[in-house]
Amino acid sequence: MSVRNSILFFISALWLSGCSASSTPRTLARDAVAAMGGAERLQNVKTLTMKGGTGTRLRMGQMVKATDPENPGQLKDVVDIVDLANGRASLDYALQNGGFMQHRHEILTKKGDKPIGVDIVGTRPIIATTPGGLFSWGTQNSPEFLLRRNVLTIALAAAESASETQPATDKELNGKMYKYGTARTKSGEDLGLYFDPQTKLLAAYEVIDTESILGDVPAEYILSDYKTVDGLTLPHHITVRKGGKDYSDVQFASIAVNDPTAEQVFAIPESAAAEAAKAASADEYSPMKIVKVGNAVYHAAGYSHHTLIVEFPQWLALVDSPYTETQGKVLFRAIQEQFPTKPVKYVAVSHHHYDHIGGVRAAAAMGATILVEKGNEPVLRPLLEARHTHPQDELDKRRNSQPAEQVGGIEVYEGKKIIREGGQSLELYPVSFPEHVDPMVLAYASSARALFQPDLYTPPATTNGGPPAQHLLRAVKELNLKVDTMVGGHGGIGTFADFVKAAAPAASSN
Ligand SMILES: [Zn+2]
Repeated sequence: MSVRNSILFFISALWLSGCSASSTPRTLARDAVAAMGGAERLQNVKTLTMKGGTGTRLRMGQMVKATDPENPGQLKDVVDIVDLANGRASLDYALQNGGFMQHRHEILTKKGDKPIGVDIVGTRPIIATTPGGLFSWGTQNSPEFLLRRNVLTIALAAAESASETQPATDKELNGKMYKYGTARTKSGEDLGLYFDPQTKLLAAYEVIDTESILGDVPAEYILSDYKTVDGLTLPHHITVRKGGKDYSDVQFASIAVNDPTAEQVFAIPESAAAEAAKAASADEYSPMKIVKVGNAVYHAAGYSHHTLIVEFPQWLALVDSPYTETQGKVLFRAIQEQFPTKPVKYVAVSHHHYDHIGGVRAAAAMGATILVEKGNEPVLRPLLEARHTHPQDELDKRRNSQPAEQVGGIEVYEGKKIIREGGQSLELYPVSFPEHVDPMVLAYASSARALFQPDLYTPPATTNGGPPAQHLLRAVKELNLKVDTMVGGHGGIGTFADFVKAAAPAASSN
């Protein structure tokens, strides 16, 4: 090599190394933090209040048939608050899905050092749970996601953990090219990061989320409409996609940084104080009460979603293990206390809606066989088979322990099914209710002449049952079931006579 060529080579090597030094994922992440206002400013953020949000939420699992596409729920008045200083978060929103409209507010707060959940939904009593007992239809399934997946936490973690040696690559997202690199969250989860080459801002990040129903899914958080607030440049539009499908999409009107009123949201309401104390002193807590319905039949009432317990000579069968993993665990603990010698052999599923199946994996982990009518299988089988690693749930732990436990059994039946032992029976009748779900499995416990179902009629109401209640009454007559007592997947226990009143067509106006 000539001297001239050596010099040229030296210069071009310098130029190349300079080029790669300015485009490692680490430098890109640091540039992104600088573009957002700088590490010091970001670290000084205690609370972030994202206000006036409107948008959509999917993956609510409220389809009529398990294989139907979902209709997006409409989110309004969304206020998402993350308290980075104290590890708290809050999802407050109004949700409209078809004819269903509800104001909901799920709060991850603390009592002393202990994280607890507070649930404020519509007019139902405010309750407290351990954090896993919260169920949300807001921008995320639980406020805990906001703590781990907000842009500040991700950007700061990336600036510390992204590769300093590997060059960044070019990667396309939604038809646009970005600088791409990998990093890790504070807790060690793998992150993929998309940086906008023009603005230097973080355009998106991808990570594995563990969704309560979907299990481990690749999730994309797409950030846009960056605007400056108190010296910080923050995204006001956040789109979340999970498993390659839309999840939530919200445009916020404004963001407040370190708003002193944010604190008030995390105060535990007086009416939930006693329950918050219980939640703070328990490993797993969610309200649960077992009430006798009739001969060898019981109602296990959670705070909004309930279970039927049918006692057989040697074991128990349940209908539904709803809402959350925590509620499922609490249900099984309450059952073990009341029926110490009887294992739960079966858990039958009434229907595939996510709010009524959130505890099914906890039930499967306890060794129950999940009884699923064929029409509900497209949701229930993947639910039971999925990995749940971020964090790991009980079923995933037991299945992947050494040696692996044989848990998580599913038994699919088609049409009517009757379970018998001794003189006891539980009869399961799938019926199409296209106004709500197809199929809904009506559960009839013969020893108490009790009928259990959620969502069609809420006992002990005597009025306003509407078309679903009228349809349910016709179905009970067609099946020729001798029912004395109605047991609700919501509500409580009522007489058949009251149900007949509620199912009477509305009197014409006069
Ligand atoms: Zn339903």
